[in-house]
Amino acid sequence: MHNPGSVTPERFPAQEYFADGAQFIAGRLTKGTSGRTHAVVDPATGEDVYTYELAGTADVDAAVAAARAAFPGWSGATPGERSDALHRFAAVLAERADDFARAESLQCGKPLKLTREFDIPGTIDNTAFFAGAARHLQGQSAGEYSGDHTSYVRREPIGVVGSIAPWNYPLQMAAWKILPAIAAGNTIVLKPAELTPLTSLMFAQAATEAGIPDGVINIITGTGKEAGEHLVGHPDVAMTSFTGSTAVGKRVAEIATATVKRIHLELGGKAPFVVFDDADLEAAVNGAVAGSLINTGQDCTAATRAYVQRPLYEAFVQKTAALMASVRVGDPFAPGTDLGPLISHVQRDRVAGFVDRARAYARVVTGGEAPQGDLKNGAYYRPTLVADAAQDSEIVQSELFGPVLVVLPFDTDDEGIALANDTPYGLAASAWSRDVYRANRATREIKAGCVWINDHIPIISEMPHGGYKASGFGKDMSAYSFEEYTQIKHVMFDNTAVARKDWHRTIFGDRQQN
Ligand code: NAD
Repeated sequence: MHNPGSVTPERFPAQEYFADGAQFIAGRLTKGTSGRTHAVVDPATGEDVYTYELAGTADVDAAVAAARAAFPGWSGATPGERSDALHRFAAVLAERADDFARAESLQCGKPLKLTREFDIPGTIDNTAFFAGAARHLQGQSAGEYSGDHTSYVRREPIGVVGSIAPWNYPLQMAAWKILPAIAAGNTIVLKPAELTPLTSLMFAQAATEAGIPDGVINIITGTGKEAGEHLVGHPDVAMTSFTGSTAVGKRVAEIATATVKRIHLELGGKAPFVVFDDADLEAAVNGAVAGSLINTGQDCTAATRAYVQRPLYEAFVQKTAALMASVRVGDPFAPGTDLGPLISHVQRDRVAGFVDRARAYARVVTGGEAPQGDLKNGAYYRPTLVADAAQDSEIVQSELFGPVLVVLPFDTDDEGIALANDTPYGLAASAWSRDVYRANRATREIKAGCVWINDHIPIISEMPHGGYKASGFGKDMSAYSFEEYTQIKHVMFDNTAVARKDWHRTIFGDRQQN
């Protein structure tokens, strides 16, 4: 195996690093056995950077068997032992931070400043959080609730977790799935998206290096249809956790339901960004540009629909368009780049299609095109602002997953909040106001798993992330994620030592005379 500490070239040398294959089963890399290969493409150049053998169903079976074999030992470790292993894991990640940043930037096209300052530190912090949280699994206190018994609750791991992750934040999504699961004593098989396997594999390797036993974390890299569906339906997998689109989430739920698995679904989003007329306009404009363009807009919580109260509307449109036009689109590895390409040419063309169709019913204020020149081979698209679309138009209602913000006016506060709630999604939202009552009302009435006030995007390890409505259910990060990855057992001890209990009379005989 390549020594991860020795990587120096500017673009991450994926082919050399993962020459042994893209399946990580029982602590080592192997090649997939599906008989088909897949190429990871650098979206900034369109060039293949790593061709690997996809996992087949036999590889999924082997990974599940490894996770099953590791379960008794790992679930039987003390919380302190698991915590120590996770602390060592965080330290190994910190040592490898630069390799992780380069690999993530290579496979996703994210600017290095984003991976170095957001994706990687966030993942290290998450690992450190779960190292601590492993020792603080909370439960109800023991008590004599019936009078005659002592009841208490055990919080137990579930078994082998099968997880599926998307391509937009491959490392963070792997971390959000793996860390709470293993902190609680489960073992796991994770399938990253075919486009972006590199950092999930590196994450599992780092765990092994930190002393987390073989088989606790397994990565299988295959297609959703073949490897993904086999994992979700596998009889030895006790729980499915999925992050991805709502359409695929429905399919995953169907398969998991047929085998009575616990399900955790983090699905799509279409976050509203509501600007009331007393807001700090400059703060709102900066927030809208950062909040809509983060990760080239391929963020499930990204600001996608700005609703601006009429007195601020035209100024907001003009200032936001000007700031968007100043954002530097370029190679993810070049200094000074603000915005990289989308994940693929397919995704870029999909986003361009939405904007092109919107020209018939809305105003494209800035962007709306792919840059040419040096960037013509990459999957780039300019930051785009679309104004005056109707609320029921596809660009307002559908998840695009690209660097596109739509902006619409509203008149009354009631209307602004109603429009914010008027899509099937409910993952995240923000409201912008200097009036505490208005802001507080927005936090109560917007139906979303997270509502920011006067900001949009920040996340923290201590707080939960997860959706309402068609954005799914279940929480990632925070102590709340243990609700997903543990099961609750009620233990009830009789305290009377009486052979014939009083309640038995409801089944046989009459009340006993004492
Ligand atoms: P996707 O749904 O196409 O794919 C997600 C994963 O599911 C991939 O690993 C894919 O291989 C797998 N998959 C595809 N078909 C499958 C099937 N039939 N059975 C099992 N697995 C299957 O999503 P994507 O395009 O990779 O990612 C973008 C989507 O993810 C967006 O909708 C975005 O909003 C969502 N997302 C949500 C969150 C959240 O926390 N709610 C976070 C990140 C991304």
